[in-house]
Amino acid sequence: MSSVSNEKELGRNEILSFMKEENEEKLKELYKKAYKIKLDNVGDKVYYRGIIEFSNICQKNCNYCGIRKSNSDVHRFTMSEEEILESAKWSYENSYGSLVLQSGERQDEEYIEFVTGLIEKIKKLSNGELGITLSLGEQTFETYEKWYNAGAHRYLLRIETSNKELYNKLHPADHKFETRINCLKDLKKIGYQVGTGVMIGLPEQTEEDLVDDILFFKDMDIDMIGMGPYIVSEKTPIGEIAQNSKEIKKKRFELGLKMIALTRIYLKDINIAATTALQALNPVGREAGLKAGANIIMPVITHKNYRKDYQLYDNKPCIDDNAVECKACLENRIKGVGDKIGYGEWGDSLHYKNKK
Ligand code: SAM
Ligand code: SF4
Repeated sequence: MSSVSNEKELGRNEILSFMKEENEEKLKELYKKAYKIKLDNVGDKVYYRGIIEFSNICQKNCNYCGIRKSNSDVHRFTMSEEEILESAKWSYENSYGSLVLQSGERQDEEYIEFVTGLIEKIKKLSNGELGITLSLGEQTFETYEKWYNAGAHRYLLRIETSNKELYNKLHPADHKFETRINCLKDLKKIGYQVGTGVMIGLPEQTEEDLVDDILFFKDMDIDMIGMGPYIVSEKTPIGEIAQNSKEIKKKRFELGLKMIALTRIYLKDINIAATTALQALNPVGREAGLKAGANIIMPVITHKNYRKDYQLYDNKPCIDDNAVECKACLENRIKGVGDKIGYGEWGDSLHYKNKK
């Protein structure tokens, strides 16, 4: 493996050789380099996006997801507007600069209006100060525009994998890879800061696919990345065939860190989240993500009563905690890494700002 240089951009072959690297010392060097590039380009502040997972009702059937429509074991819920606004108020009062509204995918009028009302009311209760990211799946141009005009300014829609053949195996036939790409283009056209990402360590996914994912992020001129290891949800079609040994989980975790580090080195000024899925595989997974170049954390602020019903995968961490416990726990974790918390700040993607 060659050492990482600051002067020149990594090429595909070089990224691939790092992706396949197993030597621990060399990987430590890679993470150290990525951390330095983070400090040089986006600084040492970690920005919070408190995530409210407000409904697990979904019209889709992604073959890996625990809350897919066909999973009849799931107790379905939608938080009331009052409960969601209460969580948003908590975020504001606790100086979380931004929040994420996430749910299963729905495209009906009632849902679209519900979300529009939420965005407007969250803006109002925070005097416009809370930044709003949406993670609500595929929608029409008009819906994305409506939510943007209501006050949302970032949107997270993972491509899941940039390998179309693999994408088709992960989703039923009515999910179209092209639609996903068009949604990302629509979001950009409207003016959102656009986030995407992939699941890492999926059955049949190769290291080459992961390298192509990083190149895809660059080609699409993406502003923010939310990616994490694939984690088995047993009662799903992919969960039934996926390996789940200790070794494979370790590999998924390591690939997750390599993806963060290589994306940071390759794309430099974007925002990258250290996701909860890293912590599901390793108790200090999110800290390791920050050390490998991530600069965003998405603390779950969903009310404790609902967390157990939003299980995208088995053994999701923190389901017994509440927002106050999560806050205290995270502060200690981030302090341990040596980073600071950007309380009260939006922490927008510098990549997005630099384009303006
Ligand atoms: N429904 C919206 C969507 O699909 O974009 C937002 C919610 S969805 C649950 C958010 C993300 O969860 C998906 O983009 C997917 O990558 C991730 N996810 C679902 N099942 C997962 C699993 N078994 N392991 C890891 N991530 C998973
Ligand atoms: Fe629904 Fe999103 Fe899960 Fe797919 S990943 S089944 S769209 S919640």
